[in-house]
Amino acid sequence: MQELMEIGICENAGVGSWVEALSCAVRETSPELILFASSAFSSYAAAVLAGELGAKVHTETTRWQIHDQRHLYLERHVLAGSVCVKELAGTLGERVDAKAPILAVLSRSLLLEEPSLLEEKAEDRLQIVRSKWEKEGKTIQLISREPLLRQDVRLEEASIVVAGGRGLGGPEGFKLLKELAELLGGEVAASKQAVNLGWISAEHQVGQTGAKIRADLYIACGISGSIQHKAGIRGAKCIVAINTDPKAAIFQVADYGVVADIYDVVPAMIKKLKKQSRR
Ligand SMILES: Cc1cc2nc3c(=O)[nH]c(=O)nc-3n(C[C@H](O)[C@H](O)[C@H](O)COP(=O)(O)OP(=O)(O)OC[C@H]3O[C@@H](n4cnc5c(N)ncnc54)[C@H](O)[C@@H]3O)c2cc1C
Repeated sequence: MQELMEIGICENAGVGSWVEALSCAVRETSPELILFASSAFSSYAAAVLAGELGAKVHTETTRWQIHDQRHLYLERHVLAGSVCVKELAGTLGERVDAKAPILAVLSRSLLLEEPSLLEEKAEDRLQIVRSKWEKEGKTIQLISREPLLRQDVRLEEASIVVAGGRGLGGPEGFKLLKELAELLGGEVAASKQAVNLGWISAEHQVGQTGAKIRADLYIACGISGSIQHKAGIRGAKCIVAINTDPKAAIFQVADYGVVADIYDVVPAMIKKLKKQSRR
């Protein structure tokens, strides 16, 4: 690194302003490679900038290597961390279209391994240039920030979790699961499919991109058991699966399996628990 570019941007600027400023900086300097430190904000900014520049963005980069002093290889983990993908991101020094640099978002683990990538002291040795980008006259302004209204769901700490998937067939199935969870003193969770279908809010999602549970008891209702879902239930001590398909992958990790319709099994469980609590 030889130059440090200063961009005059206000502290609470939205992602749109950052992308405008970065596109301007790219036009001014024609970089071959742009590195982003991992965060929700920078990943989003990298994706929007990639769209703007017609470039490809490499996310969650866990390792980088330059072969023959010019071939840049980037590595990342996919499929819940079980597979490492190494791909040639580009050839440095030979880029035909300098307007489309390589964009890479560095994972937290890489930044921890190589803290020098973020070393502030390096600024002493750099020539500081100022970007021509000015915020005046720009179209995107941050008007306000509103806190996200979240339900108080603590799946990671729950000792009993009752989860529903697409097999519930609709949002009303979660009312049944809520009743069961309340009788057991547990929390309600869901697969990503159920969340994507809008049947339940995202705080309830379990899996690779959701909560990682450590419950004593996990009851999976109408959940197929995808690799991404299983990534969130590895810590569960006892897994009970209810599924109409005897070949569903969830049965491979279940301690107890019930091959049946949830609408037969769950009401029967509720009835039994209510009867017991009356005694
Ligand atoms: C990058 C990425 C990240 C992801 N992250 C997650 C994640 O964090 N969590 C997650 O869950 N998924 C995640 N997914 C999605 C994942 O791949 C699956 O699509 C999802 O887990 C499937 O959800 P499901 O089991 O509810 O639905 P399906 O796979 O459709 O399974 C529904 C199941 O219900 C059964 N069934 C149907 N009717 C009944 C009935 N009446 N009674 C009993 N059983 C019935 C069926 O036999 C079937 O097995 C991710 C995917 C990607 C690509």
